[in-house]
Amino acid sequence: MAAVHRPSPELPEHLRTLYDSFPFARSVPEDPVSCVAPFRADPKATEVAGIFASTLAIGNTTAIRGSFAELLRRSGGDLVGGLLARAPRERVRLLAGFHHRWIRGDQMAHLAGRLATIYASGETLESSFADGWRSGGFAHGLDALAVALRGPENTKAPPGYRVLFPSPLDAPASPCKRLTLFVRWMVRNEPPDLGIWHTVPASDLRIPLDQHTFWIAYHVGLTSRRTRSWRTVEEVTAALRSVDAADPIRYDFVLCHTGISGDCPKERDMSVCGPCVLRPDCLLWRRRRTAG
Ligand code: SF4
Repeated sequence: MAAVHRPSPELPEHLRTLYDSFPFARSVPEDPVSCVAPFRADPKATEVAGIFASTLAIGNTTAIRGSFAELLRRSGGDLVGGLLARAPRERVRLLAGFHHRWIRGDQMAHLAGRLATIYASGETLESSFADGWRSGGFAHGLDALAVALRGPENTKAPPGYRVLFPSPLDAPASPCKRLTLFVRWMVRNEPPDLGIWHTVPASDLRIPLDQHTFWIAYHVGLTSRRTRSWRTVEEVTAALRSVDAADPIRYDFVLCHTGISGDCPKERDMSVCGPCVLRPDCLLWRRRRTAG
């Protein structure tokens, strides 16, 4: 049986060093959260921009920011007034031909319609999440948010729309990264996050486990699972909670952008790995040290 790779006792100190020395000024403008930050003074506009930007958060960050900018341009610079407030046919017309990876304009127009319905009913994305969260914790909060965004099953939605919003309760094989990322942006009150939700504490967040974060999390022993799933999310989050119980997701941004930026080549390369503060923890180097 293969030995389980566990974090080194020094990992918390190494994570803090990574965080303290991280070039946020380089990476924050690259991140999709930078698309949402300009709306921060208005909670509704922030939720709306956040759910569009996080739903588009597939692929490289330049393309994501470009697609969000295109949505905003077609909405006249105002997603709430220029998209949500329009009639359904107008929304579809405005977003005709829009696409980002496999996401299409008709799906984004439907999302705008769902958001308009949610706000018209007196709910918000925070209240939708909080209802589920109060009844059963984070996974139930994410489920309630996903259900609200999908809309009733007996109503028509564009092909592929509902699967854009998986829930940990009905799709446990998914890490539900994009909705978890959206909740991180709304809850954490430390830059680059926006902290406009006040119901849910940062201590209860879960990690938005994208491929970069997962690669490093696995290789420094935060999980021994080989695939991304909701169980992996819970395992990585639990390991990070032992580093910082009040704010376990604090290190998500730096782990993710260490991968996105190319600071981590995801292979042994001394020219890049040499100065990496996580090298003593990294499975690629620990294996070689053991073998040697
Ligand atoms: S040692 Fe190299 S491969 Fe390992 S985490 Fe650091 S940069 Fe990535």
